[in-house]
Amino acid sequence: MNRREFIRIIGGVSVLSAVAPAYAFSNPAFSQDGILLEAASFADKGGWVLDTQFYQQMGGCFLLAHGMGKTVQNAMTKIKAEKAGKYFIHVRTRDWCPGNWAAPGQFKVIVNDSVLETTFGTEAGWAWQNGGSLSLKAGENKIELQDLTGFEGRMDAIYFSKEANPVLPSAPKDLFGWKDQLSGRSSLKVNEDHYDVVIVGGGITGCGAALAADAQGLKVALIQDRPLFGGNASEEVRVHTLGVHGKGGDILKKIDTKHWPNGHAKAKIDQIKRERNLKNSNIHLFPNHLAIGLEKKDKKIASVEARNSNTGIISRFNAPQFIDCTGDGWLGFWGGAEFRYGREAHSEFNEEWSKHGDLWSPEKADNKVMGTSVLWNSQKSSKPSSFPKMPWAMPVVGKKANIKGEWFWEYSDDKLNQIDDAEQIRDHVLRAIYGNFYNAKKSPKNALIELKWVAYVGGRRESRRIIGDYIYSMHDAAKKRQFPDAVVEEKRELDAHYQRKEKGDSQDYLSKALFYKVHGLYYIPFRSLYSKDIPNLMIAGRCFSCTHIGLSGPRVMNTCGQMGIATGYAAALCKKYSQEPRSIGQKHIKELRKLIGYS
Ligand SMILES: Cc1cc2nc3c(=O)[nH]c(=O)nc-3n(C[C@H](O)[C@H](O)[C@H](O)COP(=O)(O)OP(=O)(O)OC[C@H]3O[C@@H](n4cnc5c(N)ncnc54)[C@H](O)[C@@H]3O)c2cc1C
Repeated sequence: MNRREFIRIIGGVSVLSAVAPAYAFSNPAFSQDGILLEAASFADKGGWVLDTQFYQQMGGCFLLAHGMGKTVQNAMTKIKAEKAGKYFIHVRTRDWCPGNWAAPGQFKVIVNDSVLETTFGTEAGWAWQNGGSLSLKAGENKIELQDLTGFEGRMDAIYFSKEANPVLPSAPKDLFGWKDQLSGRSSLKVNEDHYDVVIVGGGITGCGAALAADAQGLKVALIQDRPLFGGNASEEVRVHTLGVHGKGGDILKKIDTKHWPNGHAKAKIDQIKRERNLKNSNIHLFPNHLAIGLEKKDKKIASVEARNSNTGIISRFNAPQFIDCTGDGWLGFWGGAEFRYGREAHSEFNEEWSKHGDLWSPEKADNKVMGTSVLWNSQKSSKPSSFPKMPWAMPVVGKKANIKGEWFWEYSDDKLNQIDDAEQIRDHVLRAIYGNFYNAKKSPKNALIELKWVAYVGGRRESRRIIGDYIYSMHDAAKKRQFPDAVVEEKRELDAHYQRKEKGDSQDYLSKALFYKVHGLYYIPFRSLYSKDIPNLMIAGRCFSCTHIGLSGPRVMNTCGQMGIATGYAAALCKKYSQEPRSIGQKHIKELRKLIGYS
């Protein structure tokens, strides 16, 4: 490749260009002259929430009516029409659970206080549902979304067209450019800044990395796709942090959690602490920013682009060093780094545990990974309540009738990919939760019990693992291997999950953990914390360089946070010596270990 060329990779589509364009442009075949209303532009979202989790896969951030069975308040906004007249309305939505039942996520659109006849959310698959014609006034028009069910209705965009049958995009890559062009963003100049290090993913790992780099005086950008920091520990997912602090206690205490039960509202208290400590640092914080792609120059990453999920506006973050803390290894994936997904054959790293056979590690490599959970809980109220019938949940749930959830409400299937099929996976667990609760409410003893909280952000455990100079595996932990470049320590057991259906259980959304005891501390080498292929990319958290079983011990958040801290300090040494992570590991490892706290 010519040295002056960039590879621009946006949402998995790569384009070669001498000067990287910031916004994609719409294919002129798509309709251009209508009025586009994007979900995030609703001025008042009422009870609807902005679901950003599946942006790459379905082409947008959509409004979700997450009412746990109770209809949510209308979302409301205004659009301007230049001229009064007849328009045709198309709504990008889906029936998220099609079958021989009424669609669970139905909603209406109200224009200037008139309810349109069409009921939306009733057609399978993300698509533009035709809502017929209507009249708009010249000037402002009020648009509302009215949830009819309380069960996860979803709306990505509304298009008011002068044509009855406009040609509209459906593939994510077409939607991005089309939405940018119609919204006027394509003509905006991209916000651009330079940093010493850019960290993508604001879970405990990314927060740890950012605080460590900041403590060394680096100019740090921390990009997080959700409004809150903390990843699985955040108030949106509510998993408590486990594992030892190792040498990272001073930093981890600022971002970790107490040991409340998974799914507990006490997550809010730790959220306040975490947000306060991040705000009190010099870190440049970018919540609500989805990293969407990157530019490469030669083998290195030159910049990352992220889209503000509320405005759609793209910012470009340039830096000499990048740390991938997305959990899903997005930077490594976009940058073309080698990664693994699924379980290794046990012969590859000698990971057999005969007591559990295939449930632990298979003879032949496969696509099985630990799954995604949706945490939930209920409460006792003073008044009896009922819960609606939901035929659409029954095929998933079976006879289960619990009144609270736990970590083992977990779904994985080797035919589904935890990233590509993430919406289907999250929805499968939601069906299990709601169907189960309907079953529970049939019992008179649960008359006063009502759902208190159900997450809509899925807690993911495992997906891509980016390959570094060293692949961490079972016996590195089990044999407590000493590494000269050890930068993280842990002592918890290895803990890999399998789906109970593997042992004949009819409920496919429940898992079981297998624990392999390790007595004493084990260590992770710095060589597992940078990509072997992209010289200026470090990787920390659950996407670090490891096998499926190698991940099972150090995947907990204090350990991931330690990985983040090690990479944050390493970024400081990269700056000090103008070198890449690999040479820091080879030439300055003593200094790195000293910064972390090893003597
Ligand atoms: C139900 C459940 C129970 C668990 N139990 C425990 C437990 O008790 N204790 C424990 O410590 N661990 C537990 N774990 C494991 C632990 O939560 C994960 O291994 C850990 O969160 C991994 O940390 P991470 O920072 O790598 O990833 P995450 O916590 O997933 O954080 C990554 C963050 O990056 C963001 N991100 C992803 N892509 C982008 C992008 N393109 N742009 C911007 N941001 C992006 C994500 O939204 C997320 O907030 C559990 C996991 C689950 C799901």
